[in-house]
Amino acid sequence: GYRSRAAYKLKQLDSDAGLVSDGDTVVDLGAAPGGWLQVASELVGEGGTVVGVDLQRIDSIDGVETIRGDMTDEGTREQIVESVGEADAVVSDMAPNMTGEYSLDHARSVYLARMAFETALELLAPGGDFVAKVFEGPDTDALRADIDEEFEYVRTIHPDASRDSSSELYMVAKGRLTAPVREGD
Ligand code: SAM
Repeated sequence: GYRSRAAYKLKQLDSDAGLVSDGDTVVDLGAAPGGWLQVASELVGEGGTVVGVDLQRIDSIDGVETIRGDMTDEGTREQIVESVGEADAVVSDMAPNMTGEYSLDHARSVYLARMAFETALELLAPGGDFVAKVFEGPDTDALRADIDEEFEYVRTIHPDASRDSSSELYMVAKGRLTAPVREGD
């Protein structure tokens, strides 16, 4: 079994959009407790690489590297770039601590998705794919438009596995158009 029900969301996103292939390098942001890491590591197989990042400690998973850090912290992003080099897919299931105040939760989730997007631009090889969770709201369209500029196309997917939380959706961007942009380039 998987560590979290969230695992089924990545399975569905992958079967809808074809995100992860055998041998790929995948970076998973907001990875604790590790359901997506388990699914990603099955999909990449023995020749692949999976790296998971979270504020929380992640119990070890065979063949998966984990980094404990805050994705809003530039030092964490640098550490990921140093340790991974180039990635084929960057996926983020990061979510803020929910306050119950809708506009605040929305704004924080968009901010985390933008952090994931910036990280993806530093890591993704041309042709690479990006996924980020976001709570739907007024800033979703602007985020989608910014992502769209860097990829062949972007879709929003609302997996059946997350039907219970109706405002949650995933931006799924396919086919990064250019090579990684690094700080200082
Ligand atoms: N995909 C995971 C799985 O399959 O087990 C579940 C992820 S859970 C919905 C969201 C995660 O985002 C939490 O573990 C939380 O600690 C993490 N998170 C939230 N803000 C973060 C930040 N600034 N940096 C790193 N991780 C963060």
